[in-house]
Amino acid sequence: MSQRTAHPSPSTPLPKWAMGVCVCTVLLWLAASAGFAADPPVSQRLEEFRIKVEKDREQTVLGRVLLDAQDGGLLVIGRDGKLWSVGVDELVRRKVTDEDFSPLSAKALGEQLRGELGAGFEIVTTKHYVICSNAGRQYSQWCGTLFERLFDAFRNYWKQRGLALHYPEFPLIAIVFANEQQFAAFAQRDAGPDATSSKGYFSITSNRMVMYDLVAEARGAAALSATEFQQRLGTQAFNVATVVHEATHQIAFNSGMHTRYADNPLWLTEGMAMFFETPDLNSKTGWRTVGIVNDLRLKQFRDFSTKRRPADSLATLIQSDARFTDEKLAVDAYAEAWSLSYFLIKNRPADYVRYLERLAAKPRLMWDTPEQRVAEFEEVFGKKVNEIEADWVKAMRRLK
Ligand SMILES: [Zn+2]
Repeated sequence: MSQRTAHPSPSTPLPKWAMGVCVCTVLLWLAASAGFAADPPVSQRLEEFRIKVEKDREQTVLGRVLLDAQDGGLLVIGRDGKLWSVGVDELVRRKVTDEDFSPLSAKALGEQLRGELGAGFEIVTTKHYVICSNAGRQYSQWCGTLFERLFDAFRNYWKQRGLALHYPEFPLIAIVFANEQQFAAFAQRDAGPDATSSKGYFSITSNRMVMYDLVAEARGAAALSATEFQQRLGTQAFNVATVVHEATHQIAFNSGMHTRYADNPLWLTEGMAMFFETPDLNSKTGWRTVGIVNDLRLKQFRDFSTKRRPADSLATLIQSDARFTDEKLAVDAYAEAWSLSYFLIKNRPADYVRYLERLAAKPRLMWDTPEQRVAEFEEVFGKKVNEIEADWVKAMRRLK
């Protein structure tokens, strides 16, 4: 088992964020599933693991075992929500404690984050979030308000459509740097080169969002008035959409909608984030833009459809995630994923919810074959892919 992140070679002329491509896709950890039992035992016991994290460095992790591989490897979740895939040669020691596993409190998590990030970082906690930032309270509080509003809007949207979601087991973490340079330096270490040029990312491994102050340049040394602050943010709609996109991933992976390290088709997870990424910065009481047409994605989809969309496009989108990690194909794959998700959520909501439930129940570290993915899709939506495609293309043509 490997603990490292898989990255395609980063030689794209345009940074991924500029094309609306989420770096989450390249942060996915790919693991061989062969060593895991089909029905693994789940332990609630708190254990102490001594793990070799680098050649000459070991770390102690308190957590519980999610999966016990036949080859002696483990998938462990820490008290902060971080996932650790521990190969048999990386496990130095394992000791069962007398306690049951419990997640860290928001306060303890805040202390851990400050310890990790150092002086100058302060903690702002909201109902569901722990925000650790050196960008100042104004920005942290704005993030907290934005996240909480999205959190409520997301849950309400799916509750109304009959999907039961649970509350996050762990406080949701956001690390917010004061500027782009600090963010890039951290992202390089934390997530690799693809993340450094983004406006923020959600790490499925660490369960944390990482981002930076989007109005830092305007702020300079002086504090901005509330009005100035709002005005500056108003000029950053595209970048705020990225933050909302990443925050949607985090909520979806922490509320039982998606399972971390399970087979989540990227068209589905990215389509979900894009469905919510249209920010609503004006309303104080709700999020009125959930599910409005995402103009940027629709424009890209129409361009793709008229100029270069192959006949088997929908099938390839569902079969595998390959198009999302290919730099030349990713932008179109995202647009198509938005379009398909939009169509299914709006036109087939009950079946879409059933599909979400099927995916959420999938085991960790087991990957479906392309044939299984298509078969499941066709079974839930009750039609062949080419029949769905005909309905969808017709609906997309009518969209304004
Ligand atoms: Zn994404």
